[in-house]
Amino acid sequence: MPIATLPAAVAARIAAGEVIERPASVVKELVENALDAGARRITVALRGGGIERIEVADDGCGIAAAEVELAFARYATSKLRSDDDLAHLSTFGFRGEALPSIAAVADVALTTRTADAAGGVRLTLRDGLVIERRPLGRPVGTTVEVRDLFSRLPARRKYLRSASTEAALVVQLVGQMALACPEVAFTLAVDGKPVLSTDGSGDRARAALAVLGQKVSRDLVPVDWSAPDDWPATVRVRGLAGHRAAHRPNRSGISLFVNRRLIQSRALTTAVEEAYRTLIPTGRHPIVVLDLEVDPAEVDVNVHPAKAEVRLLRERAVFGAVQRALHEALARAGVARGWAGAEVDGQDSAQEPQLRGLRVLGQVSQTYIIAEGEAGLYLVDQHAAHERVLYEELRLAQLAGQRAQLLLEPISLELDPATVALAEAHRADLTLAGFEVEPFGSSTVLVRSIPALSRQVDPVRFAQEVLIALGEAGPADDWRERLRILASCKAAVRAGDPLTPEEMLGLLERLGEKELCRTCSHGRPTALLLSHRQLEQEFGRR
Ligand code: ADP
Ligand code: MG
Repeated sequence: MPIATLPAAVAARIAAGEVIERPASVVKELVENALDAGARRITVALRGGGIERIEVADDGCGIAAAEVELAFARYATSKLRSDDDLAHLSTFGFRGEALPSIAAVADVALTTRTADAAGGVRLTLRDGLVIERRPLGRPVGTTVEVRDLFSRLPARRKYLRSASTEAALVVQLVGQMALACPEVAFTLAVDGKPVLSTDGSGDRARAALAVLGQKVSRDLVPVDWSAPDDWPATVRVRGLAGHRAAHRPNRSGISLFVNRRLIQSRALTTAVEEAYRTLIPTGRHPIVVLDLEVDPAEVDVNVHPAKAEVRLLRERAVFGAVQRALHEALARAGVARGWAGAEVDGQDSAQEPQLRGLRVLGQVSQTYIIAEGEAGLYLVDQHAAHERVLYEELRLAQLAGQRAQLLLEPISLELDPATVALAEAHRADLTLAGFEVEPFGSSTVLVRSIPALSRQVDPVRFAQEVLIALGEAGPADDWRERLRILASCKAAVRAGDPLTPEEMLGLLERLGEKELCRTCSHGRPTALLLSHRQLEQEFGRR
């Protein structure tokens, strides 16, 4: 489509706001333009954190010489004509705002050539106005050079951070775009030094190696999940999911894309974190790169000035898809089977040791079980391990719809009024988890059933502890999950409970069966392994 100015009615529907806030916003817009132009190779270079200079060069289709000036006009775009197009967007750009916005806050030079043009053209702008136009030979494609960002706008320049911080934001951004588009070769240089280069082979794992490094990419498993026909939204989830040691103390490792567009979404981030809840330690965040392919008609990309957020028509179905995709990918990779101990061991844990054929040696401090197995010596946290087993039991029982153990007589519990109110508010979730409760006045509840568990528990103490913990726990996104976690914690054997050898063996066998020994439901490790090799090293036998 040739470039044209949007009809006023369409322009009026465009979400307005500040497009350019910092060097990374310039880079984002320019790289998006290059991708929209079908580029296979995109080169980004920064100087002085991008405040001094940014250059983005591509081998895309180029801009026709006759349209170069128009490209810098507000609301001039080749990607959109009508309201109807706005509802089915498959390009990153559509507002015709980026080039004029950049030219308004920095000096810009754009050089471009299309395939049918004999040569290229170079346009130089200052203060948003063209100050020079001249022919310039170049291969097909476009190069945009942006200098001295905000130099004439001191109030806005003040909000920029140090050159190194701004550069780091660009590095993060280009890395994420490279992961979203593995079929495009990205190169990034900062102050003349190459910092990133992907090969454009289309293999996301190779892109991840270049972007995230060898240590992290070793622990990434592929994700590729398509919604079945009866799923309430058409969605495919592709990408990479971290396991083992691939987690971080913050959320910087979570990159989410909708139709390859990098987006920020608290809700989607929560969906990802929930999928990992019992697999990584509490307080850590997974490394996940996911592109959600959604029907463009079901995504509204016109809701945020910097296009960083989108609105999904079938949000819940898409979140569900993310969780299913992650569960499936991690299960396929056998992640649930991983041993925390494999990290202690320090060896490549390709073959995870199994909790089978163990010999129980004893109990330490009435808290840890010591056992010997083929791989070496195991130290198992009895509470964490039992909690994990019970959590799995509850989860499976709920899936199967068998949940409650009816009490012969209801128990009445005295609780504070806030907890009674909470129990009332979450009665449906409690019932689903196996707790049938019925408020009885403002400070009493009647408990008619508790979850069916393999361990004999004192129903009064169990129900009381779960309800009190529920009252103390604060808000939750997923009350059912919270109830499973609380119930498994409260029903599990505790540190300090003496166990007979038979009980210990029983617990270890079940832990092995569940194949979920990596972490307890709070994400703490359940067991450590001291391998034969490690023992030999420690004792200087090797
Ligand atoms: P938008 O991307 O929203 O259309 P922009 O201001 O970013 O608006 O760009 C205006 C137009 O300039 C685009 O629609 C496109 O036709 C053209 N253009 C910009 N950058 C490039 C590029 N790197 N390659 C080819 N065409 C480009
Ligand atoms: Mg654009």
